[in-house]
Amino acid sequence: MAIVVKNMLDAKGRDVVTVTPDKTLLEVAGILHEKKIGAVVVIAMEGRIAGIFTERDLVRAIAGKGPSVLDKPVKSAMTTTVQRCREETTVDELMGIMTGGRFRHVPVEKDGKLAGIISIGDVVKSRIREIELEAEQIKAYIAG
Ligand code: AMP
Repeated sequence: MAIVVKNMLDAKGRDVVTVTPDKTLLEVAGILHEKKIGAVVVIAMEGRIAGIFTERDLVRAIAGKGPSVLDKPVKSAMTTTVQRCREETTVDELMGIMTGGRFRHVPVEKDGKLAGIISIGDVVKSRIREIELEAEQIKAYIAG
């Protein structure tokens, strides 16, 4: 059976690091560093997903506008058209979403609410585990 996002979240947990749109880029840089993650989901006051901000956006903002941009709010440098997935999304579909969109993070939405996040590292981990399991099954079959 195909591995889906729900299986990945059951294994890694559903916590997502979120920030409000007014946090500065410097504050968000501190959070990315402290939590050892590559992206935060930006949540608006009503609780909906307002955007996603990743280390790539930080590099682009500094390279394009200089270090003074670090005092600007994250809403000025985030991506607002966020592609999401559902718990039923398969790992193969996720790989297609990440490759097609050229990004490495996909928030999970359930009943209109943020319910997790999958990074490219999670996808790689899951694929390796799947390949290991297949190899074990083949070995067991050959051994009889
Ligand atoms: P990443 O590879 O995830 O660091 O992101 C590369 C670029 O894509 C950045 O500009 C992000 O804001 C944007 N991005 C990341 N994840 C998503 C997503 N799920 N939907 C839309 N854009 C995204």
